[in-house]
Amino acid sequence: MKLAARVGQVSPSLTLEIAAKAKAMKAQGIDVCSFSAGEPDFATPAHIVAAAQKALDEGKTRYGAAAGEPALREAIARKLKTDNGLDYTAENIIVTNGGKQSLFNLMLAAIEPGDEVIIPSPYWVSYPEMVTVAGGTSVIVPTTADTRYKITPPQLREAITPKTKLFVLNSPSNPTGIVYTPEEIRALAEVVVDADIWVVSDEIYEKLLYDGAQHLSIGAVNPEAFDRTLVSGGFAKAYSMTGWRLGYLAGPADVIKATIKIQSHATSHVCTFAQYGAIAALESPESAPCVEQMRQAFDKRRHVMFERINAIPGLSAPKPDGAFYLYINIADTGMKSMEFCNALLDEHHVAAIPGIAFGTDDCIRLSYATDMASIEKGIERLEKFVGSIG
Ligand SMILES: *Cc1c(COP(=O)(O)O)cnc(C)c1O
Repeated sequence: MKLAARVGQVSPSLTLEIAAKAKAMKAQGIDVCSFSAGEPDFATPAHIVAAAQKALDEGKTRYGAAAGEPALREAIARKLKTDNGLDYTAENIIVTNGGKQSLFNLMLAAIEPGDEVIIPSPYWVSYPEMVTVAGGTSVIVPTTADTRYKITPPQLREAITPKTKLFVLNSPSNPTGIVYTPEEIRALAEVVVDADIWVVSDEIYEKLLYDGAQHLSIGAVNPEAFDRTLVSGGFAKAYSMTGWRLGYLAGPADVIKATIKIQSHATSHVCTFAQYGAIAALESPESAPCVEQMRQAFDKRRHVMFERINAIPGLSAPKPDGAFYLYINIADTGMKSMEFCNALLDEHHVAAIPGIAFGTDDCIRLSYATDMASIEKGIERLEKFVGSIG
């Protein structure tokens, strides 16, 4: 078959590829320390599993509404009001197959050839690829460790052209683990409103904050920002529900309606009984202590990984205050990220993600969503590897 041109323009997900290679090595009996996975290593909390099981027992196994179960849309609207100060009702919400489909739906609904989408780098792997599939143009704005990998308001302003449609903001960030302060969010909102562009705020890591970092949703800054904001969220990271495929997009009703139309011809809706697990995640009083327990475990690992990595000559990383990643500069080793990660995996059995996947070839990403013993062992191996390069 002659494949469509867009296939050639899209790259496969490097993160999934390296994770698969590490998994295959493990299956061969090799003791691999894996820092590649972008998913919590905990089981989904039992009360969430029980809620989905109950829905299954009750026969919630039929087709539902494309936009999602009404009770879940309402629960998400309540959550956005309570947690984020965003005034939405159920008609402002679409339930999607993960945060990924939420963003994908949006790109298809909003972006057409000629439209520019501003994406600060390092970025989550899928943003530019989604823009490409939608036929738009990504405008990558490089950031550095000097600004803790945050785009500054002047940088944003400079990147805006008459063709700019959308700005993609991700805080806490994957891959850097960095959280924008409320002041920084307010300053970016001012640029968005001034230039009259749209912003999609990917807030999937909003519950994973450390060192007193605060999460402010850009839509909560003022009514003008609210009118130009789409919020993308999901259940995978905070509730350890990666395989459930549950996310959502919130925004103006006409935009959400357009995404529902698109989704209704693609996946229809999220697995019906899974959505009842999501309702429990949002509404059960048992959820907060579970989330907090996982957050504290991540926090401990974060400290260990940050201290140990920065003690290795040739490596440096800013201290993350959100998510579960450390973004490490490897420029001093003289290696590019792909070469570095392949050698690290092949020779020392440590899986890390090359920064090139996130738009910066002099960095690698380590996830600390893995147990402490693997972190200790993996960092020892990494240290040996870096020591052998010089
Ligand atoms: C994990 C992730 C998502 C979405 O994940 P889903 O599993 O599709 O919910 C979206 N954005 C970022 C930055 C992520 O890391």
